[in-house]
Amino acid sequence: MLDFDTELKQRLDSIRQQGLFRELRRMDSPQGPRLQHNGRELINFSSNDYLGLANHPALTEAAIQSVKRFGAGSGASRLICGSLAPHHELEEALAAFKGTEAALTFSSGYAAALGAIPALLGRDDVVILDKLVHASIVDAARLSGAKIRIFAHNDLNELEEILKWSRNNPQPPISGSQRPKNVLVVTESVFSMDGDHAPLAEMVALKDKYGAWLMVDEAHATGLYGQYRRGLAEALGVSESIEIQMGTLGKALGASGGYLCGSRTLIDFLVNRARSFIFSTAPVPAAAAAAQAALQLVQSREGATRCEQLWQQVQVVGDDFRKLKLSPQESLPRLTSSPANATKPGAIIPVIIGQEAAAVTVATELRARGFLIPAIRYPTVARGSARLRITLTAAHNATEIAQLTAALADIFSHQS
Ligand SMILES: *Cc1c(COP(=O)(O)O)cnc(C)c1O
Repeated sequence: MLDFDTELKQRLDSIRQQGLFRELRRMDSPQGPRLQHNGRELINFSSNDYLGLANHPALTEAAIQSVKRFGAGSGASRLICGSLAPHHELEEALAAFKGTEAALTFSSGYAAALGAIPALLGRDDVVILDKLVHASIVDAARLSGAKIRIFAHNDLNELEEILKWSRNNPQPPISGSQRPKNVLVVTESVFSMDGDHAPLAEMVALKDKYGAWLMVDEAHATGLYGQYRRGLAEALGVSESIEIQMGTLGKALGASGGYLCGSRTLIDFLVNRARSFIFSTAPVPAAAAAAQAALQLVQSREGATRCEQLWQQVQVVGDDFRKLKLSPQESLPRLTSSPANATKPGAIIPVIIGQEAAAVTVATELRARGFLIPAIRYPTVARGSARLRITLTAAHNATEIAQLTAALADIFSHQS
């Protein structure tokens, strides 16, 4: 046992030396723009609760009612006896919201990715990923056993090169099966750590040209983009051309769980083959009910208003940040606005700092000033691209945003 702990302590020391040590911070309040931590209030600019729904009365009340009717637990996996009415109602509401034939929910977005890709692909297939896709997609791709090819972030030329390669170099089936080799392209729509957008229309054209399938992870777009707030695919008018639409119920929708939307056939197939769905206890009824209430809310007048509020915050912060005159200095943290965000502002604002230790220093200074914006480091982003990931929500007010801008200006001016 001692040897075991000694070994792990050494590994932890190495993590610390690289400025990569992480620890949990306990919050003693519900999610919102202000959190209680260690007996003090922090202004929170780090959550994915973009519409401020996580503690909304419509969601909490739906969860309570569902607990009263269906209990706390779901008893078994969906295919045994855990497929409760709230799960079915949620999936019907989700398919209607997304405009697809059917939907399937999972205990998390991570589980949705892990269920879908290994169900759809095997060793004779190819999976093509954007360099910046989420860890859940990378892990799912690895688990599938398919050949993994990566294209530079949003680089359509490189994507096309890989598509050409996979068409022109059919590999002999390793497993001896006779079925044709399939090619799946996977991207996020709005990227989680950079906030920029995938060129979905061009990607649809490419995957159609080369006979590939497309899976789009709308984790940071569901509830926020498009006339009906279905996601970026709706905003760009390409939903119907995407074979697999993935997302989470835990971000703008304020609840918990993951989903996959598409044809009835896709969903029937996943029920039979997605192992993270089959071999896992069904989510608690409260989670499904809260997510369904969130879908209703997002599609209501209030949902539209909250979305407008969010885009107003985005506008204000964009203007404020442009006014911040910060002089970059060597070996000190630098505030650089990402080019992608300069053209397409969104709720995710990365402030790239670079060195891991420097990012931690800035995050600590922000915390001392009453702001919660943890440093995002490797392995969440590439080494040397550590950042503050500032996220806005509909629930923030103008004062909080002004205070944030002032704090950042102060911190960066002291460092230069
Ligand atoms: C958060 C996230 C997921 C995972 O969803 P969870 O419901 O949190 O498990 C998947 N993809 C992306 C891009 C994410 O940001």
